[in-house]
Amino acid sequence: MANETTLILFKPDAITKNLTGEVLARFAKEGFVIRGIKMMTLSDEILAEHYAHIAAMPFFPSVRGFMQETPVIALALEGDNVISRIRDLLGPTDSTTAAAGTIRGDFGDKSGDSKMRNVCHASDSQEAAAAEIKRFFKDSEIFAY
Ligand code: ADP
Repeated sequence: MANETTLILFKPDAITKNLTGEVLARFAKEGFVIRGIKMMTLSDEILAEHYAHIAAMPFFPSVRGFMQETPVIALALEGDNVISRIRDLLGPTDSTTAAAGTIRGDFGDKSGDSKMRNVCHASDSQEAAAAEIKRFFKDSEIFAY
């Protein structure tokens, strides 16, 4: 078991559908601990950095627009193997292929936007998690207690 911290973003569809409490409860049930949490609007610059791996894709402008529809909630979450366990809890990118019982399967878009409106972002590796926590949080916004 590796103790890790991951970066979650509650995307604008989670905000507008008021899913934050329900999804946070799933994380709490797993025993994960909140080390940082805040609401923020995402600039073009931070989105270009965060989504550099899809910036050349034709759908990137839609993703950027989507991520700016409302503020997002960023979460630094700690726990044993939290990075892969949260990715499992989320399910795959396309909500229509995500199993029932996963967050994307239960709450993601099931119509034309199923690959984009998928509730949460979560870091996919230890390297990504470290970079993403630094991207969204100042050191003083991460709490040990
Ligand atoms: P994940 O968030 O599952 O790790 P990616 O890193 O591949 O997925 O993509 C980042 C985000 O870009 C996705 O969560 C989704 O919101 C959006 N996205 C990915 N692929 C598509 C697509 N084909 N069409 C529209 N949006 C997409």
